[in-house]
Amino acid sequence: MIACEICVIGGGPAGLMAALHAASLGASVVIIDRNDYLGGQLIKQTHRFFGSKEQRASERGVNISRELSFAVEEEENIKVLTAATALGYYKDGVVTVEKDERFLKIKPQKIIVATGGAEKTLPFPNNDLPGVYGAGAVQTLVNVYGVKPGQRVLMVGAGNIGVIVSYQLLQAGVEVAGIVEAAPRIGAYWVHAAKVVRAGVPIYTRHTIKGAWGEKEVEGATTVELDDQWRPIPGTEKDFDVDVICLSVGLSPLTEILWQAGCAMKYVPELSGYVPLRNVDMETSVPGIYIAGDAGGIEEASAAMMEGALAGLSAARALGYSASDFNSRRANILRELENLRSGPVGEKIRKGLKKVTLIERQEFRVLPLSSNF
Ligand SMILES: Cc1cc2nc3c(=O)[nH]c(=O)nc-3n(C[C@H](O)[C@H](O)[C@H](O)COP(=O)(O)OP(=O)(O)OC[C@H]3O[C@@H](n4cnc5c(N)ncnc54)[C@H](O)[C@@H]3O)c2cc1C
Repeated sequence: MIACEICVIGGGPAGLMAALHAASLGASVVIIDRNDYLGGQLIKQTHRFFGSKEQRASERGVNISRELSFAVEEEENIKVLTAATALGYYKDGVVTVEKDERFLKIKPQKIIVATGGAEKTLPFPNNDLPGVYGAGAVQTLVNVYGVKPGQRVLMVGAGNIGVIVSYQLLQAGVEVAGIVEAAPRIGAYWVHAAKVVRAGVPIYTRHTIKGAWGEKEVEGATTVELDDQWRPIPGTEKDFDVDVICLSVGLSPLTEILWQAGCAMKYVPELSGYVPLRNVDMETSVPGIYIAGDAGGIEEASAAMMEGALAGLSAARALGYSASDFNSRRANILRELENLRSGPVGEKIRKGLKKVTLIERQEFRVLPLSSNF
């Protein structure tokens, strides 16, 4: 049994910032990540970020991830377990972990869940053919391993991820035959969309994928136009000769550990799925379990880092650690989060967070879960 003060599950931007902030107050932290590297999604993001200087605008995700991972490795209060998957949380407070085909038990005093999100998929005929990928998987293949997924791609989804991955495919020498988007508008920031359009990639709004075809692998895809009730319009089918279909249709928060722990959860469409109720300091309805980053609602790395910092400070503070500048650090983080979520771009997230952020502990109503774990 490994005893520790704080266990951070997930070594993406949220988890790394949580660990660094908790350790900076003096707490001892164990980070576990199922990958054999730290950095989460950031390690494949080669484009420059948006936002203000404080929010690391103009920096590339991959560089932010290197810098945070290096700081974590240098911090003596932090122990890192990579290639280690958190399997479960038990009611005696034990987290079970698989590492190197061994079963470990960790008993932390506080837990910060920073497990990120999982890619959604779409139901359509032949969506199980080899050659149908999630956009995040394609980004990992291209940017981390230098492997092309194929020669010609149909991208499904014109949000930021679909458009950025399309551009990165073009940079890697892969042809992008088109991007289909079911919504009437392109969801990506215009600066990204403009780049792919300038490169000659057509973006078809109000279109979706109708099916894939191929004997043993993807040989093509059929798309169809949608009416304003999102129903396919017969006769508008188009065929694309492609060997890859890339789905970029959103992420869902990864929350299994929180369900197991009995955290009160709520379905919030604006945050992309079931997420835990939490207070402003990121503590869930189960005392001592904190949430940070995409696991608490799909947003962006900048917000994930700030939430991680806040969760790390809060968990360490609850253990009795503090610093003379604690209040000003906490206030700065809260201000940064407010700035990130301001304006029309942050409207959806603000609406979602209002539904799950509670001020007082009495406001939490713990939903009963099956007690047989
Ligand atoms: C193509 C693309 C472009 C993007 N561009 C931007 C951008 O320009 N600006 C921006 O701010 N954001 C951007 N984002 C979003 C950003 O990457 C995410 O919001 C951010 O990475 C979320 O951080 P996180 O730490 O919450 O989760 P993640 O980065 O997903 O990290 C979660 C970590 O938890 C680990 N984990 C999960 N489950 C377990 C388990 N059971 N046991 C152990 N470990 C586990 C995973 O291995 C992973 O390392 C982009 C995302 C994508 C895919």
